[in-house]
Amino acid sequence: METGLRSTQTRETRRRIILFPLPFQGHINPMLQLANILHTQGFKITIIHTEYNAPTHSNYPHFTFNSISDRFHEIEHQLPTIPAPDPGHFLNYLNRSCVDPFRDCLTGLLAESNKGSIACLITDAGFYFTQAVADTLKLPRMVLRTGSLSCTTAYGVLPIFSKSKNSCFNLTTEDLDYEATVPEYPLLKVKDVMKMTINPKSYGDFLTNMLKQMKSSSGIIWNTFKELEQPALKTICRDFPCPSFTIGPLNKYFSSSSSSLIEQDKTILTWLDTQAPKSVIYVSFGSAAQITKSEFQEVAHGLVNIGLPFLWVVRPRVVRGSEWLESLPERFQKEVGDRGHIVKWCPQQDVLAHPATGCFWTHNGWNSTLESICEGVPMVCSPSFTDQPINARYVSDVWKIGVLLEDGFERKGIQMAFRRVMMDKEGEEMRERISCLKKKVNLSLKKGGSSHQSLKSLIDYISLL
Ligand code: UDP
Repeated sequence: METGLRSTQTRETRRRIILFPLPFQGHINPMLQLANILHTQGFKITIIHTEYNAPTHSNYPHFTFNSISDRFHEIEHQLPTIPAPDPGHFLNYLNRSCVDPFRDCLTGLLAESNKGSIACLITDAGFYFTQAVADTLKLPRMVLRTGSLSCTTAYGVLPIFSKSKNSCFNLTTEDLDYEATVPEYPLLKVKDVMKMTINPKSYGDFLTNMLKQMKSSSGIIWNTFKELEQPALKTICRDFPCPSFTIGPLNKYFSSSSSSLIEQDKTILTWLDTQAPKSVIYVSFGSAAQITKSEFQEVAHGLVNIGLPFLWVVRPRVVRGSEWLESLPERFQKEVGDRGHIVKWCPQQDVLAHPATGCFWTHNGWNSTLESICEGVPMVCSPSFTDQPINARYVSDVWKIGVLLEDGFERKGIQMAFRRVMMDKEGEEMRERISCLKKKVNLSLKKGGSSHQSLKSLIDYISLL
């Protein structure tokens, strides 16, 4: 997409921006989209990245890349063996293991460059250790927050970190009321917060550090648009001393295909071409969430029972303990025939934009949620961990553009949810609301729109750093 903004920098005066993404698909995509946007605005781009999940350099011949050691291989074997997600453990580890290699790399880049030719560093907000490094080297650090504004405001008040006896994480199972609302953030239920992590200490430490170092940064770039999250933006502007720029959705400027870590099966688009408009259910739980064998089988039974065409992304090892499709029910293929297709990974944005796609059964990663909004596709929500339960509540209870599977993966609930979205009047209303948001996205990106204006302010701001 054209930004419509004109770069004021000449080839000789072009300054450089150094970007450093967290090495996970949902973080790499928006960071590289941002890098492309900044490049179109006349900045030279250097990407520092970890060895783990390195982006494909050849897809970005206009960038310079620097790889650093992350020692992730020392704990990588723990990823599939842990029984439930402990994201804080991995995130805090990276924030320790990358310190020396990152500092050395940045010091080297500064030593090689002329004074003032590097405008700033932009890191993922989750790389909180980089603020201290940037301060020492006297380089302004901005952050890209790849999650939603609303989720960040929730993180600021949730009892994840609390040592209080009343925090849901400190109650015994018998004392827990999973359906109760969380007093600190009444939109959420106790079961939502409990899903975010099995290790509140490590995740709480991660969030505390991330929020603290976001506040110390020179500015925050948000992958969202103002019209979607106005109340949260107000809270952030009140509580965070640095400027905020809501320039998203970033996927509207550049597709995430070139930063995909897994090869996308594009042949599926030909099959979608043969399907009736808004008839297909697209199912994907993103790049990191895992489900159990029995949950996988409930998804399969649900898809058989619904009777609608579907495209199901089954990422290798998404089912704990399985390589790929071993746990599919025996009669599944016979029962669905050509009505259903399973692939390992697909060009998600193209699938969502396809006229045949009628609903997205999603884990509500923030990129997936935004991509669905951008294409006006209502959702059925099966959040897994971290910010996903919060995003799902916003989709179902605030924006009312989807249905949350309150009881998890359970075939009866699945069937009812799809009936509501695909067949009932309620679904039509959701479709209208999300189409309205889609229009707002497009307006926000046009000249004079909120994201367009915010991008202009961001470029002016960086130019003065
Ligand atoms: N994605 C993709 N192909 C797929 C499934 C997902 O390209 O088959 C992309 C999707 O478009 C999104 C990203 O992977 O940009 C997933 O990010 P998200 O924040 O939704 O979830 P995460 O993977 O971080 O849990």
